[in-house]
Amino acid sequence: MTTTESSLEAFRQELSEWLKTSCPASILKGADAKPSKADHEAWLAAVAERGYTTPNWPKEYGGGGLSKEETKVLQQEVARAASYMPIVSFFGTAMLGPVLLEFGNEEQKLEHLPKIARGEINWCQGYSEPGSGSDLASLQTRAVREGDQFLINGSKIWTTGANHADWIFCLVRTDTDVPKHDGISFILFDLHQPGVTISPIQLISGQSDFCQVFFEDVKAEARNLVGPLNGGWTIAKRLLQHERQMLSAAPASGDDATSRPKKGASTKPKAPKSALAETARGYLGDQNERLAEPALRDRIAQYELDSLCFGLTLKRSGQQAKAGQGPGAATSMFKLYASELNKRRSEILMSVRGTDGLGWSGDTYTPIDLMETRGWLRSKGNSIEGGTSEVQLNVIAKRVLGLPD
Ligand SMILES: Cc1cc2nc3c(=O)[nH]c(=O)nc-3n(C[C@H](O)[C@H](O)[C@H](O)COP(=O)(O)OP(=O)(O)OC[C@H]3O[C@@H](n4cnc5c(N)ncnc54)[C@H](O)[C@@H]3O)c2cc1C
Repeated sequence: MTTTESSLEAFRQELSEWLKTSCPASILKGADAKPSKADHEAWLAAVAERGYTTPNWPKEYGGGGLSKEETKVLQQEVARAASYMPIVSFFGTAMLGPVLLEFGNEEQKLEHLPKIARGEINWCQGYSEPGSGSDLASLQTRAVREGDQFLINGSKIWTTGANHADWIFCLVRTDTDVPKHDGISFILFDLHQPGVTISPIQLISGQSDFCQVFFEDVKAEARNLVGPLNGGWTIAKRLLQHERQMLSAAPASGDDATSRPKKGASTKPKAPKSALAETARGYLGDQNERLAEPALRDRIAQYELDSLCFGLTLKRSGQQAKAGQGPGAATSMFKLYASELNKRRSEILMSVRGTDGLGWSGDTYTPIDLMETRGWLRSKGNSIEGGTSEVQLNVIAKRVLGLPD
C-alpha cells in the first residue's frame, strides 16, 4: 500500500465514524422514518461545518480542502451510509463560487465563499435582458459609479429563482463609448433593498421558476465589483462555461427516482439496468407490454446507448482536465448534447405514457403523471437556458473548430 493509499484508507475510516455520529438516523440508509426539516437542517449543518458542500474549495473559504481522490472517497462513503448528500444552491457552488475563486480578490473570497458553502445566501444570475439573450454583450443595464457605490438602473429577465434569492451576480454596462464587449462589468449586490422589483413569470410548465427584475437607483458597493472595471466579459464567459459544465452533467448520470435501489434491496453488484426503461416500466405498471413495441424499444435502446457513451465521454474529458485547467469552450459541445439528450428522454417517456402524458389537472391522473407532464414541458427550456443550442453550435464552430466568422 502506498502512502497515498494508506492515508486515503485512514480518511475513509474517519469519515465512516463521522457519518455514524453526524448523520441523523432518519437520513441513514435503510431508515424507516421520513427525515424531518430539522433532520435535514442538522445534516446540512454537519456537512457544511466540514466544508463538504464544496469539498474541493480551500478550507479558508468554507470548503473541505479535499483532493480529487479524497472527494471521491467522501462521495462513496456518503452514498454507502446516507440516503442523500445535502446540496446548496448551484448558482453559488457551481457558478459564482468557481469564478470568485479565479477572479475575486481576497476580501471578496473571504466574505462570499463561506456563506455560499454554508447555503446561507441564495444567489441568482442577472445576465439576460429583454433585448439581450443570445447577443448577451448588447446588454443595457447601466451602473454608474458614485463614491463607494455603483447606482444601477435597468432590467434583467428570465432570472431563475430571483423571487427566492438574496443576492444577484449581475452583468452591467459601465462604459457606453467602447465596443460592446469592453464596457461590461461583473458586480454583486443585495436584492433586499429599495428600488428592486421582482415579478415572477409563469413558465409553460405552469411553474414560476423565473422572473423579470427591475432596478431603479439600486446600490451596489464598489468593493463588490469582481475583476477590473469594464473587464466583466471575460468573467461572464468563464461563468457560462461553469454553468454549461454543470448543465451537461445532469442527464448523463442516468439516475432517476425509480432506478434507485429499493429499501432493503440486496447490495450485491448487479448488471447495470437501463434507467430509462426502468422509469418507463414504472409508469406502465402491469400494462408494460407496450414496451414490446419494436419502434419504442429501438428509441429506448438508442437513447440508453447514447446516454452511456455520453457519460463515458464526460468522464474521460473530466480526467483529461485534471491538469488543473478549468472548463473551456468545449463545454459547449457537452451542453449542446446534454440538453438535446434530455429533451429526447422526455419525448420518449411522453410516448410511453400515451394519453396519460396529456394529464394537466384532475383526479383521473396520478400526481406523478401531472408532475411528468410538467417535466416534459420544462425540458423544452433545456436547449435555451445557459445559451441556446444554436449559440453552442456557434461557439463550437469558432472556439473549438477554429472556423472563420
Ligand atoms: C429555463 C430557463 C432558465 C433561464 N435562467 C436564466 C437565468 O437565471 N439568468 C439569466 O440571465 N438568463 C436565464 N435564462 C435566459 C437564457 O439565457 C436566454 O433565454 C437565452 O440565452 C436565449 O436568449 P433569448 O431568450 O433572448 O433568445 P434570442 O437570443 O432572442 O434567440 C431567439 C432564437 O434565435 C436564435 N439565435 C439568436 N442568435 C443567433 C445566432 N447568432 N445564430 C444562430 N441562432 C441564433 C436562438 O438560438 C433562438 O432560437 C433562462 C432561460 C430558460 C429557458
